[in-house]
Amino acid sequence: MEKIQMTTPLVEMDGDEMTRVLWQQIKDELLLPFIDLKTEYYDLGLPYREETKDQVTIDSAEATKKYGVAVKCATITPNAQRVEEYKLSQMWKSPNGTIRAILDGTVFRAPIMVQGISPVVKNWKKPITIARHAYGDVYKSTEYRVPGPGKAELVFTDESGKEQFRQTIYDFECGGVLQGQYNKDSSIISFARSCFQYAIDTKQDLWFATKDTISKKYDHTFKDIFQEIFDTEYKARFDELGIEYFYTLIDDAVARVVRSEGGFIWACKNYDGDVMSDMVSTAFGSLAMMTSVLVSPDGKYEYEAAHGTVTRHYYKYLKGEETSTNPVATLFAWTGALRKRGELDGIQALVNFADKLEQATIHTIESGVMTKDLVGLWEGETPAKGVNSLDFLKAIRTRLEETL
Ligand code: NAP
Ligand code: MG
Repeated sequence: MEKIQMTTPLVEMDGDEMTRVLWQQIKDELLLPFIDLKTEYYDLGLPYREETKDQVTIDSAEATKKYGVAVKCATITPNAQRVEEYKLSQMWKSPNGTIRAILDGTVFRAPIMVQGISPVVKNWKKPITIARHAYGDVYKSTEYRVPGPGKAELVFTDESGKEQFRQTIYDFECGGVLQGQYNKDSSIISFARSCFQYAIDTKQDLWFATKDTISKKYDHTFKDIFQEIFDTEYKARFDELGIEYFYTLIDDAVARVVRSEGGFIWACKNYDGDVMSDMVSTAFGSLAMMTSVLVSPDGKYEYEAAHGTVTRHYYKYLKGEETSTNPVATLFAWTGALRKRGELDGIQALVNFADKLEQATIHTIESGVMTKDLVGLWEGETPAKGVNSLDFLKAIRTRLEETL
């Protein structure tokens, strides 16, 4: 069989620990035998980030801007223990944070569904994708304990030093708490564009919800910006595709999501997204079956797994013990990126290959062959057979070859 040819390289961001091991196994078993894989390789593994003073992370994000599509392996975000373990000269920042800041992107998380592992919410038939605005609000707030009686005010002074607004927040008669938070129009606009863009890409409805009835300026601004951008830039395309943009109050959204059958994107403000993404991913089953894609407002894509480097399994692997780490989300990061590359470059064979590889993976699990993390969730008729990561990938390969 002839290998599929690529024209533009994918930006490949390698990572750490167990996922780095899976990364190579996926390439060897499922990609390199079938594709003349063209990538521009960036090693985001912690030792090389240290060696390059984290420049490699910045370079990989710049390359993503240039080529438009990246695939990323999970990476360690250093903490004090990692500084010790890897003898780091600095506690380097989270690569995901750095890349997100450079691409000004929004993260979309979606579960991979298989028959035999059902969501806790029985009426969920299709994936629910959560888009979290990962900027500002309570995550960039200023707050303190109020020690005792006194007046708290909200003051805005413009660039020239002129006081524009002064409002009493509360006349404290006793101690309490106080918090100031903000967001920026530019960031909300980028968030909105990324959401509309991704809804078009995936041909799914977009839901957005805030508490604008209570927060008449702050949350209402989010609502207004979304509506204006939708009307002026995206409405026509949505109509053509037969998809919808739907705004509602956050409490109403929560109730509708639970009653829905899924199959849409739910855009959330930062805090709502933080909380709801954990709720939704847990209800769908497993973090190991959750994909994640960073989409910039101008349509650049970085695909990855939602989970981390699975450190506990890696330490077992280093001791020579057999590991059964689930490679599905990392594999779907690859298929997502290859499909997008194929679409952008008009290479239908690449798109078809990505589809077939995903199908082969899902069918392998549905036939009862899976990694051990899924065995406990399995409700299928055939008994589940828990296998190690490499045997699982080989089983997928066998199925894939039957379809090529
Ligand atoms: P984690 O790597 O997601 O793993 C937490 C636990 O979840 C694992 O110990 C395992 O449970 C289970 N798990 C996650 N992915 C799995 C998979 N593919 N197959 C089977 N089980 C899976 O989170 P962590 O241990 O908190 O973090 C480890 C490192 O990852 C940290 O250094 C963190 O900085 C980094 N991290 C990176 C990213 C990223 O790059 N996007 C995201 C999150 C965390 P059992 O042990 O019970 O089997
Ligand atoms: Mg959270």
